[in-house]
Parts: sequence; C-alpha cells; structure tokens
Amino acid sequence: MAAIRCLHTRYFMYSRGIARTARCPHGCRESETEEHILWRCKVAQDIWLMISAFLTRLTGSAAMTLQSILFGPLQGLRSHQDRNAWRVINATKQTIWEIRNKKVFHKQDTPPIITARILPKCIKDYISLETHSLGKETANINWNITTLQGTFITPPNYQSAQPHLYQDSSILNPPHKQPGRDQEPSRCTRPLLQPCQLLDI
Ligand SMILES: [Zn+2]
Repeated sequence: MAAIRCLHTRYFMYSRGIARTARCPHGCRESETEEHILWRCKVAQDIWLMISAFLTRLTGSAAMTLQSILFGPLQGLRSHQDRNAWRVINATKQTIWEIRNKKVFHKQDTPPIITARILPKCIKDYISLETHSLGKETANINWNITTLQGTFITPPNYQSAQPHLYQDSSILNPPHKQPGRDQEPSRCTRPLLQPCQLLDI
C-alpha cells in the first residue's frame, strides 16, 4: 500500500483535513509520512536492524534502502532466497505498521522484546507454508536454515547505549534526517474530503 502512496499515515490524513496532526505517533518531531514510519523513524530503524542478521544469512546481504524496501530490489527477485527475503521485508513492514497502529489506536508502545517475538512468528508461517508445499529439505535450503530455530531474532537492546551504531552501520544504510521534514505540513487548500469531525489519531 505504501508503494502507491495511499498508506493512511497521519501526514496523508492531515493533508486532507481529516486528522488533527501529521506528527509521528512515536514521538518524533517529524511528519508521519510513509518514508518516515516505515524507514526513517527510530522505531522502524530498530526493527530493520533487528531483521538485518536474518536477511544477511538468507541472501548474503542486508543492504537496504528506502526504495528497495518499498519496491523490491533493483535487480529483481532472481532466486528462492531473494523471493523469501522480499517476504521477510514485507512481513517487517507489516509488523512496523501494526506496531504503529497499536500506538495510535491503543496508546501502547511495543518493546523490542515483543517485536522480536512477532517477527519470527510471521517468518515461521512462511517457512511452514513452503515446507508444506515443497518439503522440509527444500524449504530449509530456500530459507538457508537448518531448523526453524534459524528464525530466532535478537532484540537490539544495545542500541540505546550505542546510538552511533546507526550512523556507522554500513549494513542498513540508515536514512539521514532531511531538513524541513519535521515541519508541520500546510493543509491542502482544497481537501479531498469534507469531514464533519477531525479524527483524533
Ligand atoms: Zn517516528
């Protein structure tokens, strides 16, 4: 949904006059655009870092960019491992969005230890489906694992103590803050909708 610019972020809704704020729900002083919530946000960066070791083992690389996580790798999906990496990336985006919704609608934060349980569950579902259709041996080869324990993911507890890892990491290619993105966007002069009440989300 994000790839075609219709993810219902706060920015999307605010710019159409149907939300009270465009700010990221995780407390960032930036607008919640697709790019921000799925990639630039600190919460998203923690989750991408969390999944990077698994992707590295799967494809030999966890080099990701905003474009590659939105639209897929430029070289396409050339192998089973590439296709499975794309599934993992989509499961990760889905997890990031669900965590965002939990924050927006239930005012609840999701600790990294919980995220580290959610993500493997999504991945194990994919592996189980492939095991069912192709057999365990082929599925394990396609996922580059020996057992389902290969989907174990460690929460990045060390990050808050070592925030410089984000700046120095050459694995994730983390996004850099763009000037002006933290400014509240101006409202459209002609909103697409005429709401009777602004949504307090
Ligand atoms: Zn944010």
